[in-house]
Amino acid sequence: MKLFAFLPFLAPLVSAAAISSAEKPITYDGYKVFRIDTHGRARGAVIEKMLQGLKAVQYNYDTDTNIEIAVAPEDLGKFERMRLDFEVLDEDLGASIRAEGGFHPGGEQRFASSLNQLRPGAFPDESWFRAYHSFNDHQQWLVDIQAGFPENSELIEVGKSFEGRIITALHLWGKDGKDAHKAVYWHGTVHAREWISTMVVEYNTYQIITNYLKNDTTITKVLDSYDFYILPVVNPDGFAHTQTGDRLWRKNRLKHPSSSCIGTDMNRNWPYKWETTGGSSTSPCSETFRGLSAGNTDEITALVKFSEKLAAKNGIKSYIDWHSFSQLILLPYGYSCNEHVPNYERQMELARGVASAIKQVRKTTFTPGETCPDLYKAVGGSTDWMQDVGKAEISWCIELHPSGGGANGFILPASQIEPAAKDLWAGMLYLLPTM
Ligand SMILES: [Zn+2]
Repeated sequence: MKLFAFLPFLAPLVSAAAISSAEKPITYDGYKVFRIDTHGRARGAVIEKMLQGLKAVQYNYDTDTNIEIAVAPEDLGKFERMRLDFEVLDEDLGASIRAEGGFHPGGEQRFASSLNQLRPGAFPDESWFRAYHSFNDHQQWLVDIQAGFPENSELIEVGKSFEGRIITALHLWGKDGKDAHKAVYWHGTVHAREWISTMVVEYNTYQIITNYLKNDTTITKVLDSYDFYILPVVNPDGFAHTQTGDRLWRKNRLKHPSSSCIGTDMNRNWPYKWETTGGSSTSPCSETFRGLSAGNTDEITALVKFSEKLAAKNGIKSYIDWHSFSQLILLPYGYSCNEHVPNYERQMELARGVASAIKQVRKTTFTPGETCPDLYKAVGGSTDWMQDVGKAEISWCIELHPSGGGANGFILPASQIEPAAKDLWAGMLYLLPTM
């Protein structure tokens, strides 16, 4: 245990592969994914407790109507003997992960410890959105795209993760120069396994830059009116771990002083209403572990500081935390099911407009709502902080594809990246000029 005390200081000097070499990668071969009908909250809680005895990964925490869960092959017999009301969503999760094409068990995890180490290459093209990519390639993509838009952008090192990876923001501005306007602010990949969020954030970014370069009237007006701050990966250690160790990893990779369980749920660690009971876990082994104190993770410390700066500078017009899955547009609050945001009507009107713009592309349904009543109680989340502390005029969590309805959950095939991204770009083309 004593060794762990030194790790934060060593981390920038060594590769993450060296840190996590003791952990064997998990392939999920033979795991089956089920949706269990829970028939209401009370029964849902009972079933959730029964399932805790299984070697399994639970996908959702809103268990009133159903629980989606991936069960290990050795516990499939035990699961069937529970005689639950279920359907099979995936016969072999390991095969789906291989088909998705971004997971390389035990692969190399070297990374740049400074943005200066990366040299710009060619300007990216749209083929980027037809595959998933490693953390290092995402870093390089940001460097390449920034280099192709030099007069109107910069890269900012927001901070470092626990293992020493860079949390990078791409800052874009229009004709008035930088820092002249309110912020449009996006976070992607806070939950490591939600890969589609990284790609959608980058697709929206790509559309803004390329359309501005083409003098598109709408986008020129948008970028001339706001400063964009775009962070496609706010949880780089967790994301890197999903590509080499565990595709279904959710948290960051912070070690605990007295537990062998790793990781804090960064979206339960923001220092606002953090201590409220019932919307996070105090157990380090839980997927929703809130951390030892409010904002104690390296990543959230850096993100809070950066967000405070944006709020103090020109204010935050709109914040979106991009997640998957369920196809929801969620307003605060997560900490309470009774409180509404002060500008509820305005935010809901905009969310309904985004949903209807998305629907026009290929009839995909996104449902607007509020986090606690419509998803589940979640405290220490980013949108509550942005709304009440950061004073963002719009503060949303968007849960991306799929809807859940028998589809792929976190493992969305690469062929679905572009269609999903185009849906959301239509939504942004409504939101950005309208808000
Ligand atoms: Zn999430």
